[in-house]
Amino acid sequence: MNRLLGLPASRGSALGRARVRLPHVQDIGEKRVAANAVEHELERLHRATDAARQEMRELRTRLQGALPAEVGEFLELHAMLLDDPELLTALDELVRSKRYSASHALRIQRDRLAQVFEGMEDAYLKSRMDDLDHVIGRIQSFLHKRTTTMKGLAGEILVCENVAPSELAQLQSQGVVGIVSSAGSVLSHSAILARSLHMPLVVAANAVLQKVSDGDVLILDGGSGEIVVDPGPDDLRQYRLRQRELAREQRELGRLRAKPTRTLDGAEITLLANAESHDDVAQAHALGARGLGLYRTEFLFMQRNQLPDEEEQFHVYRDTVLGMSGRPVTIRTLDLGADKADRTGLVLSSEENPALGLRGVRLSLARPKVSDTQLRAILRASGYGPLRILIPMLTTREEIMAVRRRLSRLTAILRNDGHEVAENIPVGAMIEVPAAAIALETFIDQVDFLSIGTNDLVQYLLAADRNNDAVAELYSPLHPAVLWLLRQVIETAQRHDTPVAVCGEMAGDARMTALLLALGLTEFSLHPATLLEVRRAIREVDLGALRQQAPQLLAARDRRGIERWITTTAGS
Ligand code: PEP
Ligand code: MG
Repeated sequence: MNRLLGLPASRGSALGRARVRLPHVQDIGEKRVAANAVEHELERLHRATDAARQEMRELRTRLQGALPAEVGEFLELHAMLLDDPELLTALDELVRSKRYSASHALRIQRDRLAQVFEGMEDAYLKSRMDDLDHVIGRIQSFLHKRTTTMKGLAGEILVCENVAPSELAQLQSQGVVGIVSSAGSVLSHSAILARSLHMPLVVAANAVLQKVSDGDVLILDGGSGEIVVDPGPDDLRQYRLRQRELAREQRELGRLRAKPTRTLDGAEITLLANAESHDDVAQAHALGARGLGLYRTEFLFMQRNQLPDEEEQFHVYRDTVLGMSGRPVTIRTLDLGADKADRTGLVLSSEENPALGLRGVRLSLARPKVSDTQLRAILRASGYGPLRILIPMLTTREEIMAVRRRLSRLTAILRNDGHEVAENIPVGAMIEVPAAAIALETFIDQVDFLSIGTNDLVQYLLAADRNNDAVAELYSPLHPAVLWLLRQVIETAQRHDTPVAVCGEMAGDARMTALLLALGLTEFSLHPATLLEVRRAIREVDLGALRQQAPQLLAARDRRGIERWITTTAGS
């Protein structure tokens, strides 16, 4: 028996046999073909590429409609790579002029492109290398007449170097019960999607490919990041108990669907949902979310060559508003940039420090045409139900005023053209930049509501990249500075009667619920997957008693002290 530890990326546990998938690009040494075999080799290469293309087409047709939009877009990206003339001509050239075997040519071309990707500053674009590896791996598999879809995966745990977002739904439909990867990060798109699909996932388990062999039995705990290889009787018993406990917990949580979100002493707390896809909207509706607190529009813009036009955006926003049938929907304007890059050329990939660069509202103000198209679509959707507009990455008063001016101008134009646009659409600001949090008094009169984006606020306040594993220990909301700033923002907002929510991941973590309530928060916006857990945590606390404990929380000097407060006060 052996225990390995990775980072917990998607909760849930799984017991199954390991299916090891070695990285696609291993062990393809230099091999040349005879001059008279070049044409044959080219034919093999083309056949393999065609087969990979055909497989991708079938996959897209088969899974159409069953996938969140983002996954569909990743499949599209893979299909596009398989059609990329630059990739294909370079491969032919390598076989023709150097007489490389098709496999070796693929390897060489892959390494060339890897260098280009490596040189990119943008973390998101850099991570597109995974997609390229995936596509090249598929062609390699056809060249070696291996079937690319791993057969008989039912009940197995996939052990791999990395998993592409586009594979996740397919793996789940093939019966994979959990995934562990030797690389990857907790905030990657794969991790976000795995959470959405409830697929247990552990990432950054460094030694897993060396320590686990095909067929080993594993217990995977996506909640703690632990992997047990060849579990003993005690582990199996523990696992069974844990499964039973989880099933009971799920049943109990299910009963909270129709229950109010109210503390023991009768305080009503508002739970809004974060959404990226139509599925999220449906789930939010079903679980009784009071509205959407954050609809991330940038997912509409990512992974495509062309910008979505006004009509396309209008339909998506309108359907989201209709999907919540009368509960308010908060549409956040484009927050591209930093780790959320795009292929449309909107983002400057040459920025030295993209996280400190042209992202969020800065990008919108710098690209007025793009922004106007989006704002027009949002304003038109406001005719179909209550809608609020949320501005990401706000730093200065001038920015919110500029957006407001633009909204007034566009509203007048749209009405003049006969469109219905709601009166007094609330406009809010994300509080993610420390300067905006500290100087909130300077622009609070310009906003109708606030939403604290702790994911970014924490990274900017602690100077710790949210996507960098090397500073994962430091990147934590449990730093006194984070709590003090949260308290200050909440207090200022309340003094001005301005509604304030937290919409970062922190709001969806039930271990943080008591702490946020103690800091004065009464509105949470969170992914529907954790809504019931947070509702339960709220129903178990006495708000008056918690608030009395706030001074002790704010007096904690370090993370340990804050954790101690959580354990003793909230009893978690
Ligand atoms: C945040 O920063 O907390 C947030 C909700 O925005 P995003 O995660 O989309 O950057
Ligand atoms: Mg953010």
